[in-house]
Amino acid sequence: MKRRQLLKYASLSSLAGVSLPLLPGTVQAGEASTFAKRDLFAELGIRTFINAAGTYTAMTASLMRPEAMDAIRQASHKFCMLDELQDKVGERIASMTHAEAAVVTSGAFAALTLGMAGILTGMDPQKVKSLPKLEGTGMKTEVICQKGHAIGYNQAFTNTGVKIIMIETREELIKAINKNTAAMHFLHINADRGQIQHEEWVEIGKKYGIPTTIDIAADVPPVSNLWRFNDMGFHFVAISGGKALRGPQSAGILMGKKEVIAAARLSMPPRGETIGRGMKVNKEEVLGMYVALESFMAIDHDQEYKLFEKRIDRIKSAVDQVPGITTVVNHPKLGNVTPTLNITWDPNKIKKDGNQLREDLRKGNPSIEVVGGKDNLSVTTWSMQEGEDKIVAVRLKEVLQAASV
Ligand SMILES: *Cc1c(COP(=O)(O)O)cnc(C)c1O
Repeated sequence: MKRRQLLKYASLSSLAGVSLPLLPGTVQAGEASTFAKRDLFAELGIRTFINAAGTYTAMTASLMRPEAMDAIRQASHKFCMLDELQDKVGERIASMTHAEAAVVTSGAFAALTLGMAGILTGMDPQKVKSLPKLEGTGMKTEVICQKGHAIGYNQAFTNTGVKIIMIETREELIKAINKNTAAMHFLHINADRGQIQHEEWVEIGKKYGIPTTIDIAADVPPVSNLWRFNDMGFHFVAISGGKALRGPQSAGILMGKKEVIAAARLSMPPRGETIGRGMKVNKEEVLGMYVALESFMAIDHDQEYKLFEKRIDRIKSAVDQVPGITTVVNHPKLGNVTPTLNITWDPNKIKKDGNQLREDLRKGNPSIEVVGGKDNLSVTTWSMQEGEDKIVAVRLKEVLQAASV
């Protein structure tokens, strides 16, 4: 190598954080590097914080399980065929979740889009290429859901070209079913906001030959939700990988009937000319997701719930010492099932609103994120690391005391 080339090489390799000697053909991708000595967040001036809020995409949702990180690092050392990887991992995930088949997607939203694409196209490559254009293709065009289940994430379906048809009663549902009906969709987290429950939804779907689908993105724990809806007979089930499962935030699982998953994969990478080409997961996410799921299934969920509850109680006890504060611990039944502390106050005793109090917590050291509205603060502890509950307890009390009249 010429001296100039060598110098360029040396500076490139130090930029990439790879130690010399590095010669062409001796790639050390994925090796543990000098990152241990760097703090990228500090270098870039990015605020990090204690997450007392929960699994919010804007806050980067969850911290991956160490086992998932080990899987990602291991995956990064070798090449394999993407389809073979998805086949083998899919088989394992399917058997863990009582599904006929499964595939790792780039999140629950992508799972919804790809699953719907599979229902619409079947194994027809022309139809796959045509999406999101449905007109004149022979594909169905309507997805029915209950009004209380219609949330913004239905965009995952409209991205495939379908229209959402909203109904409220069983009679309206049956009347809405027609030759254009592609699927009937259910949103588990809003099950209590609809008149029709899961079993009846599936039963009507079966009776009229309409595939049923369900979004359970934020609905573990309980761990049994991983298989409950596959057992019920939904055609596909979509779940987030980066919420309580603590896999990659850019991963999720699509699981369900064999023919739906096989068809959905036609719209997934490595195939291009599809609506799903941009919804890519690589070996790192696929194996990270798989191992995160395994670890999630192996932990003692009762014990973990008790730990989250103990942390909540610690924070509650501290906050309760401030005059004018009311605290309630909620145990959500549907979605984000974790002890959740709701803090409200007498506005005559605390002179700041929720937004101002959250800003105070955000600006403190360490910075803390909680959620809530103008009149409340809402705290969870499932995204905390060991000991952070103590810091949150102290800071919340301080901030509330400082705002006391
Ligand atoms: C989080 C969420 C999604 C999106 O999940 P991603 O894994 O972030 O794509 C979809 N539906 C519901 C109900 C959710 O809570």
